[in-house]
Amino acid sequence: MSRIVVLGGAESGVGAAVLAKVKGFDVFLSDNGKIKDEYVKTLKEWDIPFEQGGHTSGLILNADEIIKSPGIPSTAPMVRQLVSQGTPVISEIEFASRYDSAKKICITGSNGKTTTTSVIYYLLQQAGLNVGLGGNIGKSYALQVATERHDYYVLEISSFQLDNCYSFRPDIAVITNITPDHLDRYDYKIENYTASKFRITQNLRPEDCFIFDSDDAITIEHLSKIVMKAKMLPFTQQGKVEQGAYLDNDKIVVKYEKSESEIFIEELALGGKHNIYNSMAAALAAKATGIDDAVIRSSLKTFQPIEHRLEPVLSIKDVLYINDSKATNVDAAWYALECQTRPVVWIVGGTDKGNDYSVLNELVKNKVKGIVCLGVDNAKIHAAFEDIVGEENMVDTRSADEAVKAAAGMARSGDVVLLSPCCASFDLFTCYEDRGDQFKEAVRRL
Ligand code: ADP
Repeated sequence: MSRIVVLGGAESGVGAAVLAKVKGFDVFLSDNGKIKDEYVKTLKEWDIPFEQGGHTSGLILNADEIIKSPGIPSTAPMVRQLVSQGTPVISEIEFASRYDSAKKICITGSNGKTTTTSVIYYLLQQAGLNVGLGGNIGKSYALQVATERHDYYVLEISSFQLDNCYSFRPDIAVITNITPDHLDRYDYKIENYTASKFRITQNLRPEDCFIFDSDDAITIEHLSKIVMKAKMLPFTQQGKVEQGAYLDNDKIVVKYEKSESEIFIEELALGGKHNIYNSMAAALAAKATGIDDAVIRSSLKTFQPIEHRLEPVLSIKDVLYINDSKATNVDAAWYALECQTRPVVWIVGGTDKGNDYSVLNELVKNKVKGIVCLGVDNAKIHAAFEDIVGEENMVDTRSADEAVKAAAGMARSGDVVLLSPCCASFDLFTCYEDRGDQFKEAVRRL
């Protein structure tokens, strides 16, 4: 019996371990840190041996194959040792896809993955298809392959998961866009990060589809250097395309093979320029899956916004509070500011990932009346925007409660208070969800 060792005991790793067990492998799971109680319970239920708080070499180096969780970098000492002795290291997605013949729509990109994935999943559900949702969202793909049956999967896949994919092949691959993010894991080279995202297309065949943002310079440049075998379906807000999606005044035009359909922007449930891109990508994926135009149109109308992404919280004294805690990079915050039509009190800050704030200057000048910095070190934000909004219109805060109170003090009737932090949350919060939740609670307490 061949031996599979899973490194990392969270959603992806535990799912992979269960699937390996179901498929009859000798399985062992090892986590350097503490495994959450719910996952310990699952491992015990499935009778899977595991360790936590460290790696025992003797139980790992004898593996025939390793499934590495995406959170573990390839530079981790144990991974290095395994690679140097020639042990194959794969991702949970690669492993699970070996046992799954469902049609797969897979989404990657820098921003908009979760939104686009959720909209596509909703579209397929509304069309009455038997579809599973997985990857970075909810229940792991591997666990579903082990315990459920679906005809379709919609999978959100991060570059970390793609890094250890080799034979994995989606039927429809989507890259939402590519902007600098997570460069610390890619030798600070955008080419490496881009190549990692493009691994989603590496096994596509002529009958498969590749959906991409043709307004995205990095995507287009990379495409000029590779051979793409799949059907290309670009989406754009600048000009027209023969096949794909584009804007025609107040509507989206979707062209796929011989059919052409239209969707009015005004009817889209999700607002903002970025969500026009996401809706275009989702509509194309649905078209390529054979879903009816009427279902696509009505689903794009009724889709409910997702938590922490431009999520309206409350209107208090005619000031609207919006939670966009998931905007952890400059590009995401750009789109959040871009779609605001009312004066903005902007809550920004956190763990800076090497941000260049200058791309926001024009938007801040035109839309932002006050800035509430929410972070341990706000020096870069002050340096970037003090000259634009004025020093007297910037304050420093260190908790969601303080930030919300300061923003409420600055806002007047008709304004928006927007939490769109541009930064990771780890200096003051456990994660972006924690930051968004604390923001919402503070707003409700006002
Ligand atoms: P991801 O899963 O890639 O992080 P999300 O859908 O969770 O993407 O959105 C993350 C943030 O990026 C949100 O703040 C959202 O408002 C913004 N965003 C969503 N779609 C796009 C897009 N197509 N381009 C730029 N920013 C986007």
